[in-house]
Amino acid sequence: MAFIKDSGVVADTLDVVHEAFEFPVDMRLVCGGDDGPLYDPEMVQISVPYIFVDQVDARIAVLSPDLSVDDRDAIVLAELEHTLYHEIVHLLDLRFSGREDGGLAALVATEDAMH
Ligand SMILES: [Zn+2]
Repeated sequence: MAFIKDSGVVADTLDVVHEAFEFPVDMRLVCGGDDGPLYDPEMVQISVPYIFVDQVDARIAVLSPDLSVDDRDAIVLAELEHTLYHEIVHLLDLRFSGREDGGLAALVATEDAMH
């Protein structure tokens, strides 16, 4: 999964969140593990297992068998970025509304449906 680290997508996503919110968003982000993608409110931790990345890649390969590995990686990275924002919204929802699927999650779900 070196292409994920090399892309800087995880660091860039966290930078955007830290710049957008005045309060510190203290959380751990774990790539690997068995469960997820998910946000664990007790551990304040987002987990993205490698199997998820592999599954996204495999699905793209089936849908678009002519894509190069580089093109598939680019799509996987975009999906990973989207997933990270999704899980971060769960964290922000809990802090602002006290519910995991409060207003922010509903807003993002609407945005997702529109794109
Ligand atoms: Zn969710």
